[in-house]
Amino acid sequence: MRINYNGTCQFMNSLKEEKIDILGLPLDKLVNVMQVQHGKGPFHAEALYREVFKKGGGDIGHAPEFKGSPRLWSVLEKAIRLLPGRVEKTIEEEGLVKFITRLSDELAIESVIIPMTRHNTLCVSSQVGCKMGCKFCQTARMGFKRSLTTSEIVGQVFNARHLLGHDIKNLVFMGMGEPFDNFDAVMTAVRVLNSQKGCDIALRHMTISTCGVVPGIERLALMNLPNIRLAVSINGPDDATRSALMPVNRHWPLAALKKSLDAYPLPPRGVFLFEYILIKGVNDSREHAQALARFIHPLPVRLNLIPYNPVTGFDHQSPSDEQMHDFAQTLTDKGVFVIKRWSKGRSVSAGCGQLGKI
Ligand code: SF4
Repeated sequence: MRINYNGTCQFMNSLKEEKIDILGLPLDKLVNVMQVQHGKGPFHAEALYREVFKKGGGDIGHAPEFKGSPRLWSVLEKAIRLLPGRVEKTIEEEGLVKFITRLSDELAIESVIIPMTRHNTLCVSSQVGCKMGCKFCQTARMGFKRSLTTSEIVGQVFNARHLLGHDIKNLVFMGMGEPFDNFDAVMTAVRVLNSQKGCDIALRHMTISTCGVVPGIERLALMNLPNIRLAVSINGPDDATRSALMPVNRHWPLAALKKSLDAYPLPPRGVFLFEYILIKGVNDSREHAQALARFIHPLPVRLNLIPYNPVTGFDHQSPSDEQMHDFAQTLTDKGVFVIKRWSKGRSVSAGCGQLGKI
């Protein structure tokens, strides 16, 4: 941090000038901004957080903390930026809702609300497009446009709750993009969304899904967030099969991935979530299942088997039900905990790997 000739800190000066991008600010940062810009502290910062994240931000000026201070509110009103992005389209089927958000630079992202037994899960995007190039993924075909800001990531949750009216209690960072390729913005979003004064989504209800970016797994391991859930997209039980489907495997092959997972500090009784998309004739044989069981052992894993959702430009099919059951049974016989997921949302292109047909 540099000090100006007049002794004031540049950091403080920048805080004085900046707009309050409230969706992108963890509460402690908002407290700083309120102190530097407005001479106020946690009392008003927490009130802002509550009004925005719990109530949708429509009536902040009438909140008890601001009602009696019209001068303060008139200044704050001009300073606060609440820009979650413009939801321009929603597509619904069987309770599943895909929504498209237009960002300030006119790029668009997709998010999906998935109904669960008790609450809804929101599948959040972390980038516009993706660099990772997984062959079975529609997003990969868009190429990479840019990473999202924290505010744009949090904005998806804000819109799902306050604009579309869904009770979101679970988050999966499994939408467009590789979360560990946008590590800092995603982790700041986790802090914002986890705050009990605001969105109040528990860490154990957040899942970060990676295609296997080992440095990201290692960084997450150091962040002391043991309750956040880690999902890894596997899709091939040996390096040849996996590299053919997922170029990331050429950078971090299965042995490196396994080493990072071996060292990862899971909480007591914690498990990794593995995703395995079954593609007919590519990765769905009994030998593949046996090799997958060997790769998994002795990691504590819950394995989701997902039939391939056809995407443009990757001309393959999902396996038959019998093939999928046989694959699952081979793994179960080896002691692997398997869940067969019949992918929801195929007809609205909201199934796994299908986001990106905007
Ligand atoms: S599957 Fe995930 S990591 Fe792979 S290209 Fe698609 S969005 Fe990127």
